[in-house]
Amino acid sequence: MKELVVISGKGGTGKTSIVASFAALARDKVLADCDVDAADLHLVLNPEVERSEEFKAGKQARVIPDKCAACGRCLELCAFEAVSFDGPGTEAVAKTCRIDPVACEGCGVCAHFCPAAAIELEEVVAGQWFVSRTRFGPLVHARLGVAEENSGKLVSLVRSQARRLAAEKGLDLVVIDGPPGIGCPVIASITGASLVLVVTEPTLSALHDLERVRQLTGHFGIPTAVCINKYDLNERLSRRIERIAAGLDARVIGKVRYDNAVTRAQLMRSSVVEYTGGLVSSQIGELWREVVCALG
Ligand code: SF4
Ligand code: SF4
Repeated sequence: MKELVVISGKGGTGKTSIVASFAALARDKVLADCDVDAADLHLVLNPEVERSEEFKAGKQARVIPDKCAACGRCLELCAFEAVSFDGPGTEAVAKTCRIDPVACEGCGVCAHFCPAAAIELEEVVAGQWFVSRTRFGPLVHARLGVAEENSGKLVSLVRSQARRLAAEKGLDLVVIDGPPGIGCPVIASITGASLVLVVTEPTLSALHDLERVRQLTGHFGIPTAVCINKYDLNERLSRRIERIAAGLDARVIGKVRYDNAVTRAQLMRSSVVEYTGGLVSSQIGELWREVVCALG
């Protein structure tokens, strides 16, 4: 099974609109939106959710007031200052301990040492993940809860579910919309992939991002190719990016022009290649053919 991961050094390079067009062009694949912090592929693909599951990550402590003897041991031991003595009173004590769910890191020390076994560790629901039907085939996607920090784990989950689904359906390609940046979620989305396509644009900051992303993919030994989106906004810089990318063993395999049709397509909740048969669509089509060749 081949896995294509499309990433960019930062948001706003047009990565998702390229992936949406790939969704329209690729046959026999499973799609995965691993940009779990800012998932927006669904806006174009308009998925019908077929399966929805909770994403549990980490633990959180909770005091059972009726059991609490108000000994103060948990208050003393918690290194995260998550415990306070302002829980409800019981028949036995005037006040019980209470744990602040935001401050609690789920280390479990309080539960381990509580002499009354009054503290439970519960799994935290940190988001949801979905398997959906789209007009271009199955999509695995997710939603991370507000202020949750487990996006790397959720990315790994979405990716493994997409692979499992592809195997079940006998499909041999997974197309992944990866997260931006070079942090933990990106690493979770690219390790072991068949090909990483970096979508960049002709700006100096995007060039620096490309260099950092290439360092990362090089570190994991993942074949990497580059697409310069909106290349005609600065053709000189685009040529420089081509030279630098070649030097980094990450060939530019496609260049896509700036075109208002991209925004219009988004407004219509459509991929560019569905929306227009113009030059921008043929450039994305050529890019896709190059990707297929690079996937081997
Ligand atoms: S250690 Fe247990 S019994 Fe003591 S205050 Fe904390 S929750 Fe209550
Ligand atoms: S689980 Fe750890 S962080 Fe949470 S209240 Fe207990 S000791 Fe503090």
